[in-house]
Amino acid sequence: MTRKKPYDFIVVGAGIVGLATAYKLQKKFPDCAIAILEKEEHIGKHQTGRNSGVIHSGIYYKPGSYKALNCKNGREQLVNFARKYGVNHDICGKIIVATKEEELPVLEQIYQNGILNETEGISYLNSHEIRKKEPFIEGIKAVWVPIAGIIDYVDVSAKFVELISKINPESSLFTSCEVQEISSEKKYKELHTTGGDFKAEKVIFCAGLESDRLAHKDGLELDMQIVGFRGDYYELNKKAQEKIKNLVYPVPDPKFPFLGVHFTRMIKGGVECGPNAVFTFKREGYKRTDFDMKDTVQALGFKGTWKLFFKFWRKGIDEYKRAFSKTLFVKELSKMMPEITRDDVVFSRSGVRAQAIDQEGNMVDDFKIINHNGTLHVINAPSPAATACLAIADEIVSRTLEVNITNNDVEGDQGECCYHTK
Ligand SMILES: Cc1cc2nc3c(=O)[nH]c(=O)nc-3n(C[C@H](O)[C@H](O)[C@H](O)COP(=O)(O)OP(=O)(O)OC[C@H]3O[C@@H](n4cnc5c(N)ncnc54)[C@H](O)[C@@H]3O)c2cc1C
Repeated sequence: MTRKKPYDFIVVGAGIVGLATAYKLQKKFPDCAIAILEKEEHIGKHQTGRNSGVIHSGIYYKPGSYKALNCKNGREQLVNFARKYGVNHDICGKIIVATKEEELPVLEQIYQNGILNETEGISYLNSHEIRKKEPFIEGIKAVWVPIAGIIDYVDVSAKFVELISKINPESSLFTSCEVQEISSEKKYKELHTTGGDFKAEKVIFCAGLESDRLAHKDGLELDMQIVGFRGDYYELNKKAQEKIKNLVYPVPDPKFPFLGVHFTRMIKGGVECGPNAVFTFKREGYKRTDFDMKDTVQALGFKGTWKLFFKFWRKGIDEYKRAFSKTLFVKELSKMMPEITRDDVVFSRSGVRAQAIDQEGNMVDDFKIINHNGTLHVINAPSPAATACLAIADEIVSRTLEVNITNNDVEGDQGECCYHTK
């Protein structure tokens, strides 16, 4: 039931970023009523429920970037949160494996980033040490990252929902409420949804794959656009699962923001391999042949998409071939695990990454949050935004209130964060 009175805050999108934001707002302002509007009938239908479930260490990201800072802070908060509220997780560590000489400079760069990003406990492994950690993996050198882990981000999201309504029963998650129109009435924003109208003074949009469209509806002109990159996962069958103990990543292509197909032990059991990264013709399309006219016209009508294609045409074609060929997918995995066979893997599922592309065809690497006339739009929240959700939420809360955070709210052990009105 929507209420007649305006809400204090509305958060649009019940992905992990929206829910972490609502949770932090609720903790900061227990008496405020918050409406969270979600277009789907349940949470976790898009990126949050379709990712690798990895708690990233922050080793990869450009030192000093928003991603690097928020990943470290967010990971610490997330792990403390999971411990405090009993969300199943495992800090099992991961290895990043170089299989050929040409990859060593990039591996060294990643290691140096890790030092600058203060990624705790990293070290090099030689081929013998790699085998000791992962007996079926072959590499010439690897970086061991002990603080990486695994979790289920839908479980984390569900815990946020539970805690929000515990703190204030007037706050609510409204599912099947797609925001279709946005208008202003005096100091309020009015959101017209498929489940009724909602009003608040402060609105925060965390709409993932739809973030640019909602920004447009709110009158915000963007110089970038969301393009979907689908990632397909295979699964190791029961017998082959013994070939992986934890997390095994290749050395990524530094020109590309994606990490390459990796082996991931899942917190609820099983081992996945993937995801690849292919341009998708449907933003919320999870089948290889999915197509949506509006999404395709919008993506191909944007000059940045074409510039991106020209820059990465060879890689794009390779990724496409792999998306339709199990043999090629397995061949990619066999670079790290020579003994893997086609029979070891079965197709499992797909996810689509919401990636902002600028007019020059660059993938916007960092998180992007824009203030616009009293509303706030999270435009770009790619990986590791799930890991970093609580740190991103701090940033959003701070910007929503136009205040500064003066200490980090490290979940569970530092007490409340402290805000000062400017
Ligand atoms: C294949 C893949 C692997 C990844 N692996 C990892 C990983 O291992 N670790 C990690 O940290 N990150 C990973 N990520 C990234 C991470 O999943 C995302 O950064 C994160 O989930 C983004 O959360 P979000 O809340 O912004 O978006 P979403 O989870 O997509 O949520 C947005 C929500 O907004 C809703 N919405 C959209 N439009 C409207 C509207 N008009 N009205 C109401 N609701 C609306 C949507 O239905 C959706 O529920 C991965 C992503 C993908 C796709």
